[in-house]
Amino acid sequence: MGLLDGKNALVFGVANKRSIAWGITEAFLREGATVGLSYVGEALEKRVFPLAEENGIDFVEKCDVTSDAEIEALFGKVGDRFGKLDILIHAIAFAPGDELGGRFRDISRDGFRLALDISAYSLIPLAKHAAELMTEGGSIMALTYYASEKVMPRYNVMAIAKSALENIVRYLAADLGPQGVRVNSLSPGPIRTLAAAGVPGFRVMLHYAEKVSPTRGLATQEDVGNVAVFLASDWGRQVTGETIYIDGGYHVLGLTVTEEELSEG
Ligand code: NAD
Repeated sequence: MGLLDGKNALVFGVANKRSIAWGITEAFLREGATVGLSYVGEALEKRVFPLAEENGIDFVEKCDVTSDAEIEALFGKVGDRFGKLDILIHAIAFAPGDELGGRFRDISRDGFRLALDISAYSLIPLAKHAAELMTEGGSIMALTYYASEKVMPRYNVMAIAKSALENIVRYLAADLGPQGVRVNSLSPGPIRTLAAAGVPGFRVMLHYAEKVSPTRGLATQEDVGNVAVFLASDWGRQVTGETIYIDGGYHVLGLTVTEEELSEG
């Protein structure tokens, strides 16, 4: 018996098998859920379709979340295919390349608009449409990062997007709670993925996360998937509006230096 037997999940954000969304999908399948995937564009088809096929997923539909028409069309298909929905995963982020890594003060109006639209605003219409299908309650999760709270070098516009996303999660939790829909943020430490490759200095972030976090371990896609299972299951039924860290405890530290650096002092 799986923890998610009989539940239907819609997952946004699988680009390839390294995607956090794919780690979550594998955990959901393992626990007995039926999973549908949504991907952004033709360029991803050659990676997403084979993954789906190998894992018995027969609902794979394109949706660019900057388009209200595409969102509406997608949820029409989700309704036809699944009827009831129980779980929604938002694992989507985008910022123009030149907005990451430069000086914070140089963030452009267009870069800000696009990054916030795709990485934060999109959760609102996705949650609205999903909630209409969550007739027996549900669990919505969005992927965020600690740069929402503390300054992380070079994260720039994406940090602002993540702050907005976490606040949207809290407001959605209050808005949708009365109909039995819970909304939470999952906040993993750094994980090597396609999106992470766009963050300058990412390797250094990985190094520090592993050397200084209390568990001395890096979060994996599987670790995120397992926490998502808990929140999607009835075990998490009084947890909503939260940011859940999957970062080996990194976020509790005040001084993030390695043992070697400390002993040099
Ligand atoms: P990823 O590149 O595999 O996933 C990002 C996804 O966003 C891709 O599938 C991409 O197609 C999708 N996307 C971009 N623009 C879109 C649009 N207009 N419409 C629909 N989808 C769109 O990388 P990932 O690291 O798995 O990222 C997933 C989430 O996890 C993101 O929100 C990211 O910020 C977050 N996160 C990542 C890390 C990390 O270290 N990798 C850490 C914390 C949080």
